[in-house]
Amino acid sequence: MTDQELYNDMMRDFDGPTLCGCGSGEPRFALNDVMGIFCAYVCDQCEKEKRSHYKPCTFGSVDAYRQNALDCGEDIEPEDY
Ligand SMILES: [Zn+2]
Repeated sequence: MTDQELYNDMMRDFDGPTLCGCGSGEPRFALNDVMGIFCAYVCDQCEKEKRSHYKPCTFGSVDAYRQNALDCGEDIEPEDY
């Protein structure tokens, strides 16, 4: 194996899909809220279920999100990070 092949092999491992922690065997992707703040890693199988753990406004409009933060006296940060 040449250095180039070795390097490609290493990069393939590095870039390979990381599977979702829910056990579905699906590759995971980042679920971000309406402000673009990372919430959780999800896959197609569990995205809906994981979203349900957050307030509806988390993925609604920016205005609703801000209003909720004000109502709770919170800074604009996700709760479950
Ligand atoms: Zn999943």
